[in-house]
Amino acid sequence: MKKKGIGLLLALAMFYMLPSQLFAQSSAASLSSSYTQTRYPIVLVHGLFGFDNIGPVEYFYGIPAALRSGGSSVYVTQVSAANSTEVRGEQLLTQVKQILAATGASKVNLMGHSHGAPTARYVASVRPDLVASVTSIGGVNQGAPFADVILSVAPPGSLANAVIVAAVNSFAQFLNGLSNQVYLPQNSLAAAQSLSTAGSAKFNQAHPWGVPTSACGEGAYNARGVAYYSWGGAQTKTNFMDPLDDPLNAVSILFWGAKNDGLVSSCSSHLGMVIRDDYRMNHADLTNQTTGLVAWNETNPTTVYRLHANRLKIAGY
Ligand code: CA
Repeated sequence: MKKKGIGLLLALAMFYMLPSQLFAQSSAASLSSSYTQTRYPIVLVHGLFGFDNIGPVEYFYGIPAALRSGGSSVYVTQVSAANSTEVRGEQLLTQVKQILAATGASKVNLMGHSHGAPTARYVASVRPDLVASVTSIGGVNQGAPFADVILSVAPPGSLANAVIVAAVNSFAQFLNGLSNQVYLPQNSLAAAQSLSTAGSAKFNQAHPWGVPTSACGEGAYNARGVAYYSWGGAQTKTNFMDPLDDPLNAVSILFWGAKNDGLVSSCSSHLGMVIRDDYRMNHADLTNQTTGLVAWNETNPTTVYRLHANRLKIAGY
């Protein structure tokens, strides 16, 4: 019995290790010192409850290193964990200007996950001259049902709303505190409003660049000199060892069967050129979380970022 148990463990370990080794080998083939060497710096923008890093754990897990190994200049930004798209966008714009000053570059390539996508779109909308490209990754471009549900269950002004807002604001402050960014203002009610379907529609009216004009279609590939791209996921349970899979799978019920990554529908993720909207990835897998626990039978998320950086490089960005 004991032997059988050890055999099973070994088989499981191989099941897990083999694909990652295969990916390591296949990506080694495309590894060169300039494969991801884009003309402009790559700037990563986190989503709701995001951070740059907490101790050794990065929000974009292993992604900056994967990009840098191919020659990218990568910057990881930190905006309010919970706030409106406009407030986060202004914070990001300040950091983009700092990055441009530090590097001497004239533009940046923005890559935003989740709420980071509209945050990046805000910067490209108000300062298109500073942005070469915007890439939306599991981006909340047409709203997210969890925000609609929060606002309908606990409408602004209600006691339930006050309790939720206070709790979520402290959680956001806690996250920013962990990543040594205690000064950033938190406003979870504003975040929920920005991420709701109605709030997203309003934002898209003011900042329409790259947003699809037909239901679930593609958007303009280039608007006012800024290139727009997106990708997204469509599977919630991807790795049985990841504790985030079950909660993401549970909330995916809010989509009534529409393809989604647990928090964002495939259609909502669309922006500009849609690279793919149905990776076997949930909302966390899109940033290679939790700590690399992703689907074994899908391209590794870090490879998807590297391929995209190479796409930007070839396009001259
Ligand atoms: Ca995962």
